[in-house]
This record gives sequence, structure tokens and C-alpha cells, in this order.
Amino acid sequence: MAEIKDTLADWLRDAYAMENQAVEMLERQTERLEHYPDMLAKVREHVAVTRRQADRVRECLQRLGTDTSSIKTGIGMLIGNAQSLSGIFASDEVVKAGIFNYAFEQFEIANYRVLVATARQIGDAEVARLLEENLREEEEMAAWIESNLPQLTQTYLQRKMAGQHAEAKR
Ligand code: MG
Ligand code: FE
Repeated sequence: MAEIKDTLADWLRDAYAMENQAVEMLERQTERLEHYPDMLAKVREHVAVTRRQADRVRECLQRLGTDTSSIKTGIGMLIGNAQSLSGIFASDEVVKAGIFNYAFEQFEIANYRVLVATARQIGDAEVARLLEENLREEEEMAAWIESNLPQLTQTYLQRKMAGQHAEAKR
């Protein structure tokens, strides 16, 4: 059981890094979404949600008697780099950001499903509950992006046809 607890703590530190990476990434996006007010508002909202998620993950670690001091950043950093690389030269950046955000939410959902299952395995109902809150929020965000991608794409294409700068401003 102690081994599983250590594993859970390890994965929680990964999740903490993931959420901090997400804050950074989403904040960067808000600077480029001025022509897409719905997406801008939702991304801003999710920045606030994500900060609370990081706090919950930290709370989980504290409950397990550990902390966030030795966080791993490997996975999170890789994703952040992939996104900035894909965005730098792309005129269709806003659409790519929408696709990326959807994929990132699915990544988060998978992470929280694993974490919830692990917390249940060691019988920590409170940690499981906190992680389930994060899971529900990621599911809500994923569902929002899924239903808004067509509109985002349409707005992008209309701007492009109208000869406006279809790409988001940088
Ligand atoms: Mg999150
Ligand atoms: Fe998220």
C-alpha cells in the first residue's frame, strides 16, 4: 500500500506540473484571441479553473503527507514546446490552438481517470473526490471545445475569405 501511495504522489506531482503548464499555455493564448470573443472568454475562464485545479492537486499531495517541491516537468514541458513550435509560423494558429486545446483536455481527462482510480485503490475517498472535481471540469471544457470548434472554424474561414488577417494577432 505504501508503494501505491508513493506512486500516487509521483503522478500527482506530474499532474501539478501539467496544470501549471496549462496556465502558462492558456495565458499565452489569450493574447492572440481578440477576434474570437467566445473562445477568449472560455480560455480566460479555464485559466481561473486551472489555477484552482493546481491548488486541489497540491491539497491532495499535502493529504498524502508530501508536497510539490520535487515536481517533474518533463511531460508538461514537452507539450508546451510542441504547441509553441506548431504556432509560431502558422496563419491558422487559432484553429490549431482549438485542436490542441481539445487534445490537451483529453490528456488531462485521462490523467485524472488514472489518479482517481489510484486514490480509490488506496481507499482515500477525499483525495478521490478532489480529483473527481478536476476530472469533471476537464470534461466540461472538452465538451465546450468540441461543440464550439465548428463555429471557431467558420469564423476563421469567414475572416480569411473577407481578406482580413485570418490569423490571430501576435
Ligand atoms: Mg486542468
Ligand atoms: Fe483543463
